[in-house]
Amino acid sequence: MSAVAEKIAVLRASIRSRDPDQKEFLQAVDEVFESLTPVFQQDPQYLEAFERLIEPERQIIFRVPWIDDSGVQRVNRGYRVQMSSALGPYKGGLRFHPTVTLSVIKFLAFEQTFKNSLTTLMMGAGKGGSDFDPRGRSDREVMAFCQSFMCELYRHIGADTDVPAGDINVGGREIGYLFGQYKRLANNFTGVLTGKDLRWGGSLIRPEATGYGCVYFAQNYLAHKGETLEGKRCVISGSGNVAQYTAEKLLQLGAVPITFSDSNGYVLEPNGFTQAQINHVMELKNARRVRISEYCAFSQTAQYFPGKRPWEVPADLAFPSATQNEIDQEDADTLVANGVRGVFEGANMPSTNEAIEVYKKAGVMFGPAKAANAGGVAVSGLEMAQNSQRMQWSRAEVDSQLERIMKDIFNNSLAAAQKYGLKDDIQAGANIAGFLKVADAMIHQGCV
Ligand code: GLU
Repeated sequence: MSAVAEKIAVLRASIRSRDPDQKEFLQAVDEVFESLTPVFQQDPQYLEAFERLIEPERQIIFRVPWIDDSGVQRVNRGYRVQMSSALGPYKGGLRFHPTVTLSVIKFLAFEQTFKNSLTTLMMGAGKGGSDFDPRGRSDREVMAFCQSFMCELYRHIGADTDVPAGDINVGGREIGYLFGQYKRLANNFTGVLTGKDLRWGGSLIRPEATGYGCVYFAQNYLAHKGETLEGKRCVISGSGNVAQYTAEKLLQLGAVPITFSDSNGYVLEPNGFTQAQINHVMELKNARRVRISEYCAFSQTAQYFPGKRPWEVPADLAFPSATQNEIDQEDADTLVANGVRGVFEGANMPSTNEAIEVYKKAGVMFGPAKAANAGGVAVSGLEMAQNSQRMQWSRAEVDSQLERIMKDIFNNSLAAAQKYGLKDDIQAGANIAGFLKVADAMIHQGCV
């Protein structure tokens, strides 16, 4: 074994023994480790940078007490993991979901590091959230929770320090409550959060950005293979912000979005969702906050499959846009057996490492989350720029910058893969391109 190979083996073992229970974090690190091995072999300084990178700069865990509508005290756990400031202020969303643990937030912050680097903008990486479950909670309860959450978070964030945004279950309503409380505590009206409402500092296209960006990424990948989206049948999982705008952009570009889902089941529109039908999904999910099964009352052609996920539906392309590990090896086998040609990840880490192996063996076009869903945080970066300028750019301006960024992400990932002799392995290329920019900054900035 070479000296570098030996160091890699020692480091891999030490990460496991340090945090043996952090299975999501270890999964995310493993996936990147594979791709970066040729980089480490070429220059061991990069292995040293990686060893530092996988230990967050700072991890904050805090108590979030609040009172529910019946006067009962509740206590949740809040997190903010400040992963890397090599490229700029920590940047990344907040997730409110009962499955949130330190391992989940750490894996998201780790992924965010590469993703933010790929956007070409100057952003470090972080992630936060809580095990708070907003399902079934009133607006007042959500507000009470957000205000309490911010009571601790505010001392760790700032427009040039750490800029949180949304993620699962944190949308415009929550960002509003969080921003309002930040302002009271800090006495400071600033771009400290992104995903703000348009009327008080938000950016046009921010709600659409992750979904639109994912479709632009797919469009670039298909063009590289001499294909277009025209007529492609697309399965989408999830029914939140990412899924909704993925469907909308697919439709605009001539593709046929055929499913939405939530944790209870999926809805199939065999002839594809129209814009009016997508608008109805938005209304159900964003305003009424009900289950996707309710959609069937609106459409004669829709079919609902309780307890199932959409991967069993034959399609040309798949856009997993719900949550981590929603496609395992068996699901990937089913997708491939049914003829899927491309998988583009709108969610973070929706495919297990075994599922990714299946795509690779089958020669499926694979747009990994770090690259394919980077459009959301990219437009957050544009929101920060607009806030600094005290300006608001037009819809066309933001959309064209988003398109350019997604094209650059695809091209930079492809170039990195080719440089390391990996042909068009976009997964490895995205990991390498994302890493090298952060690692070079870390090396320039010394052992910090
Ligand atoms: N939560 C989104 C992501 O996973 C967006 C983060 C942001 O805008 O800061 O990239």
